[in-house]
Amino acid sequence: MRDFLHALLPQTCFLCGTSCQHLLCPACHHDLPYIQHTCAVCACPLPQELNICAQCVKKAPHFSSVRATLRYEYPAKSLIHAAKYRENLGVLHYLGDLMAQALVAEPDPDVLLVVPSHPRDLRRRGFNQAVELAKVISRQRAVGLAREATYCVRRKRKQARLSAVERQANVRGVFGVNLQANWRHVVLIDDVVTTGATVNELASMCLRAGAQRVDVWCCARQTFKPNES
Ligand SMILES: [Zn+2]
Ligand SMILES: [Zn+2]
Repeated sequence: MRDFLHALLPQTCFLCGTSCQHLLCPACHHDLPYIQHTCAVCACPLPQELNICAQCVKKAPHFSSVRATLRYEYPAKSLIHAAKYRENLGVLHYLGDLMAQALVAEPDPDVLLVVPSHPRDLRRRGFNQAVELAKVISRQRAVGLAREATYCVRRKRKQARLSAVERQANVRGVFGVNLQANWRHVVLIDDVVTTGATVNELASMCLRAGAQRVDVWCCARQTFKPNES
């Protein structure tokens, strides 16, 4: 019904309000903070002459790579907040499409997994934004999505005010994974990667459960350097 009404009503750009055919007008779509040159491993931004950041050289994470589409800053932040806290599934689908387009050159994994929400958050919000993004990518690439294969065994403390080291301790023992033996290359999908502590913990569990390669595909990457957090 909502889709039907949406089709009848004149549409305006979600960000600037000019009338347009899509969620964003061409100018706002073009001006999104697309991520440019980043660390080949963790996707933190880097100067052109470097390929891997000092942090990843010092201690390689458990995942092989993070692929991010946008920098987590305005207006990408507004879109993700609208999707997450105002339950705007139209925005989520738009962001999923954006990710799918940015990821066309990436090899297909055996399966797509998601960073899970705790059941209590899921009940409160009604959906897991990572699952909604993963559904779009799964449909477009015809790669299976195993949304039950990753789960939360306990609730983590809010991460926002924690340092990178505290985040690592905070996510330890939070997740469980249940992988099939033929899933050798898995991709973890999340909306935002901040320090990478959460996806690193999940990647380590996937490797212990038998996966041989774990990549992370996220919509937006926080762009401070990990050692600044
Ligand atoms: Zn616009
Ligand atoms: Zn790095």
